[in-house]
Amino acid sequence: HCPTGALRERNDTQRAFDAIADPEKITVVQIAPAVRTAWGETLGLTPEQATVHRMAACLRRLGFDYVFDTSFSADLTIMEEGTEFLHRYQAGETRDLPMFTSCCPGWVRYLKSHYPQWTDRLSTAKSPQQMFGAVTKNYFAQKLGVSPDKIYCVSIMPCIAKKQECDLPTMHTEAGKDVDLVLTTRELVRMIRAERLHPEALPEEAFDSPLGTYTGAGVIFGVTGGVMEAALRSAYYLVNGKNPKAEAFTAVRGHAFAQGWTEAEFDLGDGAIVRTAVVNGLGNTHHLLEAIAAGKVHYDFVEVMACPGGCAGGGGQPQNLDDEERAAERGKRLYALDQCSTLRFSHENPEIQTLYREALDAPGSERAEEWLHTDHHGWQMPQSPL
Ligand code: SF4
Repeated sequence: HCPTGALRERNDTQRAFDAIADPEKITVVQIAPAVRTAWGETLGLTPEQATVHRMAACLRRLGFDYVFDTSFSADLTIMEEGTEFLHRYQAGETRDLPMFTSCCPGWVRYLKSHYPQWTDRLSTAKSPQQMFGAVTKNYFAQKLGVSPDKIYCVSIMPCIAKKQECDLPTMHTEAGKDVDLVLTTRELVRMIRAERLHPEALPEEAFDSPLGTYTGAGVIFGVTGGVMEAALRSAYYLVNGKNPKAEAFTAVRGHAFAQGWTEAEFDLGDGAIVRTAVVNGLGNTHHLLEAIAAGKVHYDFVEVMACPGGCAGGGGQPQNLDDEERAAERGKRLYALDQCSTLRFSHENPEIQTLYREALDAPGSERAEEWLHTDHHGWQMPQSPL
């Protein structure tokens, strides 16, 4: 089931096997941050065995040509969304604030259905999944020296709603559809079982390059509060020209698992006091939006994740009786991965810096707008048949 109520699950594993078997296609797969916390649960792997690099090895044994990490494009999302937030905040147009994050398609659908008058408050940044697809079809295809239509881009996501997101008419560039196929964590497990792989017996393998390097800031996208924390780290840098402590914004983590929403205020420098809120679960989101509408609370930047605990508790993850507790446990693992990362600021990702230097120029540039941003008015919510 999908906790957001966005979609019913469909099994797309055969489409993935067909693409892998097609000699005309180059298959490129990306793994979302939250998947690494849960894929081993129903395969009987210990957390030590179920590493993301062992998952990379499995995906290569399944036959994918290139294996990458969506945490790379989470860093890219931060560059675009952090810059967009500062522009809106510094312009001081209250109609554009609070800016809402836009990387959760369950939330975007909810806002468009229930609060369509606030559609312009959504960040125009595409989600990391879609940014990855756009960069693969445009930049990576060029690096390989192949036509973008040879590339078949697959995502492994903790999410059922991502299947719908990749089919939106707005999620493409001149190089074609950003992402061709989305598989959930559960579908990845099915493929591993179908091919009788034993992940615990495989070596850990590195991601491919040049879209395979990521920071701890990209990894925490998979947990509630992670997008906000990562964005504030880079927004501080953009305002001050120097990094804050990586732990400067941990107050956004707060009690977001347990109660309605977490609010916090930060001095980003230059007198910029930013009021933030982080919320997960659509019931909590409803209460937060009603409070904003009634003028009871005021924020500049709001992160919304439709699933309890964020993507770590997503509807495409293995299902257990204690889902909510597992989401919290999985989230802690992502924070631990961030803490032991050498790179913890999205703007320090060397492959992101190269991408801007070689192709995009700067966040918010004309090409960045074309590849990495979207028009939330470009599609309509389906009408109810009733
Ligand atoms: Fe999908 Fe994550 Fe949003 Fe849940 S919180 S709907 S898993 S993007």
